[in-house]
Amino acid sequence: MFILYGTRRKIKIDRSLGNRVCPNCHHTVEQSLAREKAAATIFFIPVFGWTTKRMIYCPCCGTAKMLSRSEYKEMKKA
Ligand SMILES: [Zn+2]
Repeated sequence: MFILYGTRRKIKIDRSLGNRVCPNCHHTVEQSLAREKAAATIFFIPVFGWTTKRMIYCPCCGTAKMLSRSEYKEMKKA
């Protein structure tokens, strides 16, 4: 039997952190707390998903600063 499967990834923005200076482009822009989520798909339907990366995302230059799971939790609560 023929089974079409694969994975897909997308960025999910969790909350805005307000205006911060980006360490990469040095612009003061509204940065946000984001997660990269991956999902396994069968016939393009997501079957199960998991979080691969946690980061602070800069919409100006597209740079992401990686965070650990505990750092991420702290920032989400604050
Ligand atoms: Zn930037």
